[in-house]
Amino acid sequence: MLAYTYESKGNFVLKEKARPVLKEPGDAIVRVTLASICTSDLHIKHGSVPRAVPGITVGHEMVGVVEEIGSQVTKVRPGDRVAVNVETFCGNCYFCRHGYVNNCQDPDGGWALGCRIDGGQAEYVRVPYANQGLARIPDSVTDEQALFAGDILATGYWAARIGEIEKGDTVLIIGAGPTGVCTLDCVLLREPGKVLVAEPDDFRRDYIKAHYPEAEVIDPRSQDAAEAAFRAGSHGGADVVFEVAGTEESFQTAWKAARPNGTVVIVALYDRPQVLPLPDMYGKNLTFKTGGVDGCDMDEILELIRQGRIDTTGLITHTFPLNQIAEAYALFEERKDNVVKIAIRP
Ligand SMILES: [Zn+2]
Ligand SMILES: [Zn+2]
Repeated sequence: MLAYTYESKGNFVLKEKARPVLKEPGDAIVRVTLASICTSDLHIKHGSVPRAVPGITVGHEMVGVVEEIGSQVTKVRPGDRVAVNVETFCGNCYFCRHGYVNNCQDPDGGWALGCRIDGGQAEYVRVPYANQGLARIPDSVTDEQALFAGDILATGYWAARIGEIEKGDTVLIIGAGPTGVCTLDCVLLREPGKVLVAEPDDFRRDYIKAHYPEAEVIDPRSQDAAEAAFRAGSHGGADVVFEVAGTEESFQTAWKAARPNGTVVIVALYDRPQVLPLPDMYGKNLTFKTGGVDGCDMDEILELIRQGRIDTTGLITHTFPLNQIAEAYALFEERKDNVVKIAIRP
């Protein structure tokens, strides 16, 4: 089968590999019907994910059809259409039992697919702990609708959950890239009073205006997002801030925009340490929440998609066949042609 492979730093190659086989009783083999490229794939390509193992097949966002299951798999059966969870977790350890699945103590736990074990930019993928790693896609939900359920939508859903938004709250989301949009979708489910979205890119701002008329869109190049949050909130800032942009500037905006005793959820990944100016923040009594996504909400997310309450299909701006994946990466990497997300069809 064809598999897009991390050869060495800066070098991904589409090559012929053996079809994966069941290794453990909890495994399932999934025939990939649609995959996607994520910014984290680029981080692997650029060598900034030290735990990524050279030789592995990349890709951790995909949907497909179950082909084979191990003896312990009870949640899905061959022939089921499934979404694949970015996180591998045993379901049994202390962390899994408390819902902190990103910290699963299994050696294969956490973000393993397409990083430490073979992922889904391929024709087939082996999914360990399939009872946790797979969710059935409802019949009325398309592959395109379900494509992000296991990764960026799971991230948005987790972020909105730990943000503990209360009805009527003022919320600021910094960054309207794919994960920012997914965060917005999941934030809106919690019925905030006002939602502000700060994004410097014109195309991305227009996307929010077109799809989410209930959000107020801010261009941080011409308007200070922290000041906008101060004016929008009733108590000197946003009740909850989601930092999804991942820059030095956006990190500073996040704590400034939060009201006293507000919550700042750091969803973004940074490529260098960030500074919390604690003397300036003293007395503001903020709560910071951060971490890798505890992605264990795929069934709920797919049900919300089925009900039409979440729809992220608009994020898919391009589709490429697997044999042209190198071109897709080039387009995604250079952010050409207003690309947001690319679907890859094996
Ligand atoms: Zn990802
Ligand atoms: Zn575990």
